[in-house]
Amino acid sequence: MTRGLLIVISGPSGAGKGTICKALLERNDYWISVSATTRKPRQGEIEGINYYFVDREEFQKKIELEDFLEYAEVYGNFYGTPKSKVEEMLDKGIDVILEIDIQGALRVKEKVSEGVFIFILPPSMEELRQRIINRGSETQESLMTRFKSAYQEINYISKYNYAVVNDKVNDAVKKIESILVAERCRVDRIKEKILNSKEGLIHEQLYD
Ligand code: 5GP
Repeated sequence: MTRGLLIVISGPSGAGKGTICKALLERNDYWISVSATTRKPRQGEIEGINYYFVDREEFQKKIELEDFLEYAEVYGNFYGTPKSKVEEMLDKGIDVILEIDIQGALRVKEKVSEGVFIFILPPSMEELRQRIINRGSETQESLMTRFKSAYQEINYISKYNYAVVNDKVNDAVKKIESILVAERCRVDRIKEKILNSKEGLIHEQLYD
């Protein structure tokens, strides 16, 4: 069985990663990893759906047990991707999405270089500022911090495989779907299967 793709959707706060992932999941059979965080739940957020909400002590314990594929401190809170579940899904051939910040994405890249790293950009910095304000969940201080970080974070774009501007969500989602179709046809992903396949079995071998 072909191992699933590890798809890392990353980019600055307010670029629209969450909205894009939600739309991607509505239209495709991907599995999205649920992170652990020390951040307090926002209104409407559900334990186990949006995040696993843990205290700092519990988070520290998970770090020591090497439970995370990656973790990072983002705006004063810790966020981490549970490793075992991600591995389990990839082994089952299921494509896995990680919606994580830039520090985390760079750490995943060191460990899983065959992942697909997609950077989500806002159409403009002004639009990004408006989106962060419109969220209404930030204090003035955290709003400024997020906006300043976004400026610096865009410098890391060269570490990614793809950049997608999130102007219209539907267009951004279509671009990501096309990227993933192309990724599944990459010779370095499928050459073993082609070389091992018998005549007439190529289709089954590639798309099992
Ligand atoms: P928020 O608090 O707005 O839900 O998320 C803040 C930032 O943390 C976002 O950029 C989000 O993508 C990122 N984030 C969420 N989960 C993880 C994770 O498991 N690891 C890392 N490195 N970042 C995460």
